[in-house]
Amino acid sequence: MKKYTPYIILILLLVWHTVLFAQDRFPRPEFESGYVYNTNQMPTQRAPGWEYFDVAVLIAALAITSWLALKKRSRQGLIWMSVFSLAYFGFYRQGCICAVGSVQNVSLALFNQGYSIPLSALLFFLIPLLFALAYGRVFCAGVCPLGAIQELTGFRPVKLPKSVEIILSAVPFIYLALAVLFSSTNSQFIICRYDPFVGIFRLDASYTMIIFGVLLLLAGIFVNRPYCRYLCPYGVLLNVFSRFAGKHLTITPAECTNCRLCEEVCPYNAIIPSNLDQKIEEPEKSRSRFIIYLILVPFFAVGGAYLLYNLAPALASVNTNVQLAKEIRLEKQTGIESISKAVIAFKESGKTETELFTQEEMIIDRFKKASPWAGLFLGISLGVGIIALTLQSRRSEYKPNQGKCYSCGRCFKYCPIKARN
Ligand code: SF4
Ligand code: SF4
Repeated sequence: MKKYTPYIILILLLVWHTVLFAQDRFPRPEFESGYVYNTNQMPTQRAPGWEYFDVAVLIAALAITSWLALKKRSRQGLIWMSVFSLAYFGFYRQGCICAVGSVQNVSLALFNQGYSIPLSALLFFLIPLLFALAYGRVFCAGVCPLGAIQELTGFRPVKLPKSVEIILSAVPFIYLALAVLFSSTNSQFIICRYDPFVGIFRLDASYTMIIFGVLLLLAGIFVNRPYCRYLCPYGVLLNVFSRFAGKHLTITPAECTNCRLCEEVCPYNAIIPSNLDQKIEEPEKSRSRFIIYLILVPFFAVGGAYLLYNLAPALASVNTNVQLAKEIRLEKQTGIESISKAVIAFKESGKTETELFTQEEMIIDRFKKASPWAGLFLGISLGVGIIALTLQSRRSEYKPNQGKCYSCGRCFKYCPIKARN
């Protein structure tokens, strides 16, 4: 019974939240149909004192989670941390402020002098990365509300074929590149806009977003943490930082005896097995393959940059002003008057078409300058990913893949080795 207590609390939390905020599910009255240009989903404003309180809670939660994962080795403790973070950062703070979305604030601030990033948003971006550098992905283990809601609902892990897993794990890189591109061009905050769980936390998202979130949770019962593994753009950064972690959780509390009891237990395919009993490739062969792939990396990078440069005008369509200019142009070409809210609001605004078209050109130009960098990043990531897949080394123990491991602690109980006192 004790084992199920966190889950009972989770259900109560959901019921309480649904009842308390039920009125938000009904459409709010629309007093005016003014169209707002180029809005970004910024974090909700909070009194500065409370913002720093959130930062303090973040640091405390990360410190406790690190202790639970690395020192105490308590899966139960990590589940309790997930319940807390889901309640506080998820339902109480309604998914905002959030480290995942803060990527966009940082990129907007880097490329737009007119925007000064709130210090709390910057800290939410940096602190989990610093902890990843020190202790691995402890943020994912028990602090991120998006990770927590999936961790608590993932019951029956099913493994996907390796090829599917590899293809899907490329998606977060594309998502990250697009999120940075769209926010740096002051066009959209797609991470917030398409956050599948914020609708559940706030109960004020569109039905499609709520359905997407619920479907993702249902899929997550079998393919655990689907958002973390195949979508999360912040996870790309955590993955990189965690690879260099000074200390990381281990499966065994002492020395691995290669008993293989933990081999299949990680739902995230994050255990690197020992290969003592396997023949590994001759060093010359793997060295020459490594050199070939290394030579290919610049080609991937240039190819990516070229591809995204050519896609820039299409990508710029996410910007509301570019969309509006297209609608106005279409209206002129066809002679059919548009009834969209955006066009009506534009006509009422007194802005001229020339002004709008000039603005459109400027935005497309910004995309043409920024898109190649996004392509370069994707090309290099692809090249490095291929190199990493082909590298082989002698391993004498079973251990977590530091980039992929969410420090969830599920594997602890499978290891028969006891800690040395
Ligand atoms: S702690 Fe890491 S290796 Fe162990 S089950 Fe969790 S994700 Fe897998
Ligand atoms: S980590 Fe533990 S369970 Fe896994 S192979 Fe080593 S000794 Fe066995």
